[in-house]
Amino acid sequence: MYVSFFDLFKIGIGPSSSHTMGPLNASNLFIKSLTFLKKKHKIYRIKVGVYGSLALTGKGHGTDLGIAAGLLGYKPNNVTISKISSSIKDNSIYIDSLDIKFNIKDDLKFNYKLNSKSRFSNKIIYSAFSKKNDLILEKTYYSIGGGFVIDQENQKKNKIIKVRYDYNSANKLLEIGKNEGISIPNIIRTNEKDLNKTKTEREIDNDVLSIWKEMNKSIYKGMQETGQLSGKMQIKKRANYLYKRLIKKDETYDPLDVLDWVNIFAIAVSEENASFGRVVTAPTNGAAGIIPAVIKYYIEFTKESNDKGIIDFLLTASAIGGLYKNNASISGADAGCQGEVGVACSMAAAGLTSALGGTNEQIENAAEIAMEHNLGLTCDPINGMVQIPCIERNAMGAIKAINASRISLNGSGEHKVSLDEVIKTMWETGKNMNEIYKETSKGGLAVNVSEC
Ligand code: SF4
Repeated sequence: MYVSFFDLFKIGIGPSSSHTMGPLNASNLFIKSLTFLKKKHKIYRIKVGVYGSLALTGKGHGTDLGIAAGLLGYKPNNVTISKISSSIKDNSIYIDSLDIKFNIKDDLKFNYKLNSKSRFSNKIIYSAFSKKNDLILEKTYYSIGGGFVIDQENQKKNKIIKVRYDYNSANKLLEIGKNEGISIPNIIRTNEKDLNKTKTEREIDNDVLSIWKEMNKSIYKGMQETGQLSGKMQIKKRANYLYKRLIKKDETYDPLDVLDWVNIFAIAVSEENASFGRVVTAPTNGAAGIIPAVIKYYIEFTKESNDKGIIDFLLTASAIGGLYKNNASISGADAGCQGEVGVACSMAAAGLTSALGGTNEQIENAAEIAMEHNLGLTCDPINGMVQIPCIERNAMGAIKAINASRISLNGSGEHKVSLDEVIKTMWETGKNMNEIYKETSKGGLAVNVSEC
């Protein structure tokens, strides 16, 4: 199924698309279902249960705040951490639309048992009761990464999205390109025009560019911020310090300064995300620093960069992200960090190759190289916070994406391993990965770094 650019790249709140934004969206859906019943039944109480990875790392990832924000009716693009915090009084929120109170401590339960048989790990069950404690409505949702949510009852009823160029594999994408003589960004541009019939291509391009502008704002905001990230690790924010250090360096030319800049851009966005700030899912929040850092690299450090290059970058990245979402997963809870940082790295490598004038074959090659060298990457966030290893991992992912693009651009596009094969391998690796390495904080760095 075609994944629209504007579904993949969404403006939202940190720190996690699957653990904060997904639950917020699920709460919105549940409240919407209840409004249909409101005339018939007076809702007296709502209870919410979160399961698996959502429970195990939910407190560090702000799942409780996401659920509360969604019940209050906030959307990812209009909520801020201060709005949520000021709505919570004595651990409770008042849900205006239902005229009831929701006590976060009593009505929200974290259930820590893992169910490795389920296709998706991040499950949320909402129940609404009458005054006599009769169950009026129960709904189960899965948060599947990138802020996307599946309603269990409607799992198979996928909305059919009709676009001119439908594809479900990288091979098909390349075939369309060859047969129609069209570049990958133009394939996506045409599809987005099909989905937004009232808009001109120029308006769509402007909407894509506005996504970059949001990303750029996160870079600038992150570069200005000082102090500590939330949580008991008391980690100092580094982007501002690294930036000031770099601009004070003596005049001696150091060709590796560019690496320092890319690191700063990626860390700035990731620190914003970890601070419950505003970021764009790219394709997730945990990996939100990679694509902005590589676009900023394209603007600042490559010759003849321009707006068209930025738009082509993002449209191409979207084509690749859609392949991972449909054929594997973009959730750390389902595939480990290869599904988040690995996918973002692959999307960024493809995007940069496109912006620099690469052929469709070189774009596919860059995306493949980037994922091939992220295979097996586990998710083991310390204290369940999107901080260690996540923030530095974005910097590493951005540099790797640039290198993958360079390797590809220096070749002809011909290569042994296809992108489809590497996506299949990533998904099989994810399914075979022990649950302790899938956003549960039960293994890896999360258990071996003792002082945290
Ligand atoms: S380790 Fe990777 S997948 Fe896990 S929370 Fe951090 S960025 Fe997300």
